[in-house]
Amino acid sequence: MDARYVEYLGVPHYTFLIVYTLAALSVLALLYGLSKTYRGVGLLAVTKQGVRRLDKSLRFVAEFLSHYRFLSRQVFGGTVHLLLIVGLGISLIGTIIVSVVHYTGVEYGGLFFLVMRFLLDVAAVFIIYGSLAGIYRVYAGRERYGKLANQYILVLLGFLAIAVTGMIMRRYRVDYYLGGPSPWSPLSYLVPPVTHEVYLAAYFVHIAVAFALIAVSPLVMLRHMYLAYANYLLVDRPLGELTTPFELEKVMESGEAEITVGVKKKGEWRGIHGIMFDACTRCSRCQDVCPAFAAKRPLSPMSLITKIAEAKNDADLFEVGITEDEVWACTTCGACMYQCPVYIRHVDYIVDLRRALVFESKVDQKKADLLMSVSQYHNTLMQANVGRHDWLRELGVKHISENPQAEYLLWVGCMGSFDGRAREIVKAFVKILEKAGMLDKVAVLGDEETCCGDPVRRLGEESRFQELVLNNKQIFEKYGVKKLVTICPHGYNTFKNEYPRFGVKLEVYHHVEVLQRLVEEGKITVRGSLESLTIHDPCYLSRHNKVVEPQRKIVVKLGALKEPPRHGERTFCCGAGGANYWYDVPEEKRISHIRFEELAGTGAETIVTQCPFCNAMLTEAKRAKDSAVNVKDIAEVVAEKLA
Ligand code: SF4
Ligand code: SF4
Repeated sequence: MDARYVEYLGVPHYTFLIVYTLAALSVLALLYGLSKTYRGVGLLAVTKQGVRRLDKSLRFVAEFLSHYRFLSRQVFGGTVHLLLIVGLGISLIGTIIVSVVHYTGVEYGGLFFLVMRFLLDVAAVFIIYGSLAGIYRVYAGRERYGKLANQYILVLLGFLAIAVTGMIMRRYRVDYYLGGPSPWSPLSYLVPPVTHEVYLAAYFVHIAVAFALIAVSPLVMLRHMYLAYANYLLVDRPLGELTTPFELEKVMESGEAEITVGVKKKGEWRGIHGIMFDACTRCSRCQDVCPAFAAKRPLSPMSLITKIAEAKNDADLFEVGITEDEVWACTTCGACMYQCPVYIRHVDYIVDLRRALVFESKVDQKKADLLMSVSQYHNTLMQANVGRHDWLRELGVKHISENPQAEYLLWVGCMGSFDGRAREIVKAFVKILEKAGMLDKVAVLGDEETCCGDPVRRLGEESRFQELVLNNKQIFEKYGVKKLVTICPHGYNTFKNEYPRFGVKLEVYHHVEVLQRLVEEGKITVRGSLESLTIHDPCYLSRHNKVVEPQRKIVVKLGALKEPPRHGERTFCCGAGGANYWYDVPEEKRISHIRFEELAGTGAETIVTQCPFCNAMLTEAKRAKDSAVNVKDIAEVVAEKLA
């Protein structure tokens, strides 16, 4: 059979005029809509950046096509989305081919033409199934979709109309091209023969709905496609880096007497943060993974973003539904941002709201104590900083001034320096370094070590954070520090991802990375055992910084690894991050207890941590539950099993 495409088959000769007019109108409406959607950023700016950062644009497409963020949390919702995307994608390709044929005059026939008939039928099935399932999903969850529910249903009905009219059109055309129903158009066996009048009606409904959807797409829920791209493209920070609302050094140089910090009104967010929230599709993936929500704290990242999106530009967000407890309930674990299919940075909004509260001194005693401790004692634990590392001298770790050749600065951190339990972790690490003959390769700052700044920044005290950065910068320069190793993922993250913005560029290692290297290079040997171990991945190590392999490579040498359901980059928080370690939030169940139950549920004898805060939280949970499961840091389990 040698079927060939015939332009405007069976439609009046003036149809091309209607098509051209609708196309022009829809493109104009699309551009107008995009300029509204990208308000404050600019369509041109997004386009330019998209071209300039072609690598990112391509990565966005690749991530989108993989559909990982859609499918990994909600199989049903993700599948519906995928069916619609594939179905509409094939239909779009069919339309592009026809346009190319029109403008180039190339012949469109033969096997390729027949294959496209077949694929367009497949696409119709995908779209019909996807639209119906989508309508069911929206209807069943209409409370969650709120004001968007009707838009969703109308758009899905539009997709359905496109698929059904397309099917009718192909049934009419199959008679012309193939002489009747054919395996190249399987749906032609299902659809009864179509009269010319029905074909014409289907044709015009088809093009009208398609162009109408293109025209309104930036102004209805479909705008999430455009905003997701802008969110991905214009945020050039690692997951673990917070926004920098001002640079203290520049402010001091400029002599500005006063700066306002934090955001309380939607209209105060500028650039991409002024539109990012509009991308929210109310899919609830962020809420599903949120530890605060799981603990029944007063926070749902989805509802927070919805409240921002629906607020008036000049309304005080704390007066239109957002509560202070809601803002403090976040552990900054990043699970929401990691999962969000439209790349919303929930934590940026939460920290901006916290900054506003801190700016107005709206902090309770515990938060005030943390800030006071950092100001007065230069550490977070209200301890005299003098003699901070004296106990390490006894273990042979010298001050950096006594060991200027040291390859690494050992950043002990506030917990490692003062907390009795965390000191055991540092001791275990030092013992391993000694065994590997590396003790001389590390040195500490002693009394000159202060807070790294992570908790105060996440609490919303940006000025104090930057003061700490500038102070630490001077100290690093004074001693020529190039490499840093720490047992704390919070310090690790802030040194690695946040200090560079202030001109501090170090090679930063977490102790698990060093341990793995020592094992791999044969500098230490570990004994295997029958012990079963499970790994608790810290959010700031494994999700924010994607360090997931070293701990596993070590643990499998020590015993039997039993993974919890949520592990690696998709780990579940211990509840301490975002400065939560220092204050209380109303909750029904402690986040650490939820996590402990999950880890203990693996049946492992030992929970292996890699963060002094996680260790403290899970140790408390173990005590509260009177559990026999051990909670040990990776350094401790390695030190115990040194051959
Ligand atoms: S960062 Fe974590 S705790 Fe905070 S809103 Fe997101 S998922 Fe919830
Ligand atoms: S913020 Fe992102 S993950 Fe959360 S509901 Fe909206 S689109 Fe879904």
